[in-house]
Amino acid sequence: MLDPVLRLVVFGTPGWASRFWSKVEKAEGCWPWTSATRGGGYGRFWLRGECQQAHRVAWLLSHPGEVIPAGHVVRHDCDNPPCCRPDHLAVGTKYDNDMDRVRRGRSATGERNGARLYPERLMRGEANVQYQPHECRNGHPEERRYVSANGERRCTDCLTERTRRYRAKARAEGRYAY
Ligand SMILES: [Zn+2]
Ligand SMILES: [Zn+2]
Repeated sequence: MLDPVLRLVVFGTPGWASRFWSKVEKAEGCWPWTSATRGGGYGRFWLRGECQQAHRVAWLLSHPGEVIPAGHVVRHDCDNPPCCRPDHLAVGTKYDNDMDRVRRGRSATGERNGARLYPERLMRGEANVQYQPHECRNGHPEERRYVSANGERRCTDCLTERTRRYRAKARAEGRYAY
């Protein structure tokens, strides 16, 4: 079944798109939703009587013809829930999203979440170690990074390969059960 928002984007010019973008502050860095928000700080947008998450609408409007696959969510690369800037949004699984949150140590909600009070801190750039690019010596793509416990960016694919090599070696030596 087609996503209800996507259906409105695909079938007919979304006349409501300008109403939507008028509620987004196109600032330097993040583009926060300036209207109503809901639990977790996500913007909400009423569309034909249905409440939609603003960042999902932003993603769909900026990717005409594309779908959010079943079981996937629109994630914030900037970890800033009200942000609707299309290039800060990415489609991923719920699992990816939860892992991001664990890596970033963001389990707190409410005002303790600095993202809501200080969205400017989450801009990409020198100020935020999470967005320091990390050059992978094996040439894996930049978007495949995680933030290590000491705050450095590391390559997820290299970690996976290291783990696989370690396991294979251990298995060959009979030290490893799986
Ligand atoms: Zn953002
Ligand atoms: Zn790598």
